[in-house]
Amino acid sequence: MPKAVHHVVKRPGRTLDEPDVEIPVAEDLATVPGIPQREDDVAFYSRVYPLETQNIEKAADREWVWTVYSEEVFKYREEHDERNEPLVHAASYSGDLEPTAEPVVGKNITEDVRQKARELGFGEVGFTRYNRRYTYVSKKHWVKYEHAICIALEQDYTQTQTIPSLEAEFAHFGTYETEGALALELAEYIRGLGYHAQIHSPNDNSAAYIPMFVAAGLGQLGANGQLLSPHFGSRARLMMITTDGPVTYDSPIDYGIHNFCQQCQVCVNRCPGRALEKEKVWWRGAEKNKLIYERCRPVMARYEGCAVCMKVCPVQRYGMKPVMEHYVETGEVLGKGTDNLEGYSLSDKGYFGPGQLPHFDRAFFDIPHGRKEDWLFEQFKQRLEREGVPDTEQVLEFAGKVKKILDEGNSTRGDE
Ligand code: SF4
Ligand code: SF4
Repeated sequence: MPKAVHHVVKRPGRTLDEPDVEIPVAEDLATVPGIPQREDDVAFYSRVYPLETQNIEKAADREWVWTVYSEEVFKYREEHDERNEPLVHAASYSGDLEPTAEPVVGKNITEDVRQKARELGFGEVGFTRYNRRYTYVSKKHWVKYEHAICIALEQDYTQTQTIPSLEAEFAHFGTYETEGALALELAEYIRGLGYHAQIHSPNDNSAAYIPMFVAAGLGQLGANGQLLSPHFGSRARLMMITTDGPVTYDSPIDYGIHNFCQQCQVCVNRCPGRALEKEKVWWRGAEKNKLIYERCRPVMARYEGCAVCMKVCPVQRYGMKPVMEHYVETGEVLGKGTDNLEGYSLSDKGYFGPGQLPHFDRAFFDIPHGRKEDWLFEQFKQRLEREGVPDTEQVLEFAGKVKKILDEGNSTRGDE
């Protein structure tokens, strides 16, 4: 049944050569710009329970994944890490580099930077305050400048539709490599305008980036836990540059996604690990769908990064405009229930069409939890329960392992 239109969102085209797009938002999808939020709660949780990167909080399973990667994924990840390391390193000290020119007094640099970022190929570019409430504890003293430039690079369409596959991992990690290099160029451009530029790598995140992308009007949070951007949905790789240059902030937008996801639910229903929850909850001051990390990680690790939740999202597959137009015309979710949208294959289990899900036994989800030292303690505790007090040599061996972990310190680097 056709729907009344509540408002129309106008956005720049996907590339500089393409015309602006207009996205109709149906009346029953309209909620608030950005995401429903309780400011006091966001402030409370960030103060009392500040965020930490999963690369530290979940370091035990991040080490474990390498033990279950297929030979091809292992080799490709090693090669990627080698190529990517100089880019992540360059980003880490980019904030210390001095501007290379004198700034033009009184000139706002927003549109110059936006234009340059678009010329470089970033499909989504937005400006907002760098919100320290989302900064990871380990990065608190690293972040230098107050204005955030949110930039997203589109991941290859065709390769993405083969998810889960090694082919799709080429697109995933290849996009990181490309945008890491492009960001160096954009930062250099900002320094040439007379201001500092600090690159926040997509592989060494300083914060939860999505809330800032939402604040900058670049999309809304999907039920799959990913930013749904207007042109390529969650097929976007996100990173930021912060600066002390004078910029004008963009505003959050209601694309209708917050309510649309409740109607759609395709990612929730198709997730092989059943890691996505149907109902939204209030979490750290925002209303959202939660992801069960422990249900997701074992699938991601064993099936080429999984990402079925990205592949089956109609906004990723068809773009937000066609999806929202279809909803206004019919009241239905474009592609829902079709093999074209919902089908996927898992290497050792075959094809799963709409309504079909793979089965995994309980042991499949039994993976190391927490930080590396937490997992070591957990294993030691289990051994005590099983075998009683160990001899001195075994205790010393345990102490040596803990000390090694502490000496190595925590790395914030990862692949998210
Ligand atoms: S990556 Fe796979 S297992 Fe994880 S939430 Fe997405 S669909 Fe589910
Ligand atoms: S698949 Fe549907 S429910 Fe999931 S994020 Fe995309 S639009 Fe939202």
